[in-house]
Amino acid sequence: MEIEQTVIVQCPYCAQTFEVLVDCSIGHQEYIEDCEVCCRPVSLVIDVAEEDGAVMVQTIGEDV
Ligand SMILES: [Zn+2]
Repeated sequence: MEIEQTVIVQCPYCAQTFEVLVDCSIGHQEYIEDCEVCCRPVSLVIDVAEEDGAVMVQTIGEDV
C-alpha cells in the first residue's frame, strides 16, 4: 500500500478538478485546501479504508 496517494477532487465552487496528496497512514482527516484554480477554501473530508487502502474524499464548499 502506498503511504501517500494523489487523489483528484472537484472544486465545489468552480467545478475544476485538482490534485491533493493524501497521507494514507491517517484513517480519517479533515482539512482545508485552497482550490488551485479559484483560490477559494475547500474543506476536504478524507477517509482511508483500512482493508484495502481505498481513499474517499468529500469536498465541501463554505457558503459565503
Ligand atoms: Zn475552484
